[in-house]
This record gives sequence, C-alpha cells and structure tokens, in this order.
Amino acid sequence: MSEDAPAPRKGRGRLMRSTTVTRNPEVPAPALRCPVCDRPLKYLHTVLGGVKPIERWDYFQCVLCGFYRYRSRTRSLRVTGLVPGV
Ligand SMILES: [Zn+2]
Repeated sequence: MSEDAPAPRKGRGRLMRSTTVTRNPEVPAPALRCPVCDRPLKYLHTVLGGVKPIERWDYFQCVLCGFYRYRSRTRSLRVTGLVPGV
C-alpha cells in the first residue's frame, strides 16, 4: 500500500476528500535547507489532503540530492523519490 501519492489525476475541486495541490498555500512553505548538503531547498508545491485533520506536505527539491517532502504535522523532512504532479 502506498499513501505517498494520492495525486488527483483530473478534475478540480470536485472530490473534497481527495488531495489538493497548490503552489500558493495560505501559510507559506517554510524555508528549509537540505539536510545532506546544506543548500537552500527550492520549493515546489504543497499538497493538502486527508479528511480532518488535514495533512499537509510541502515538496522541495535540492539541485544535488533530489526531492524532499516536509510533513507539517510532524515537522519532518524526508527524501522522496515521488512527487505528486501538479
Ligand atoms: Zn542536497
């Protein structure tokens, strides 16, 4: 089972229980640094999903190390090889 990429494939705003991808979240994404090489991470987009409580993941990219996913609830930054499409 994979709970990593519940990306909606088509349509907009129809499935409230689905996930939402935005590049302009109400609360701006935090400025983070790559835990490996300490470069500033480039913000990609934010995924909001789930039913209450709503989960939020911010996706970042390090030019050297790849993609990262920051989980707001736990404030954890993890490497991810999969970035939900926008
Ligand atoms: Zn890096």
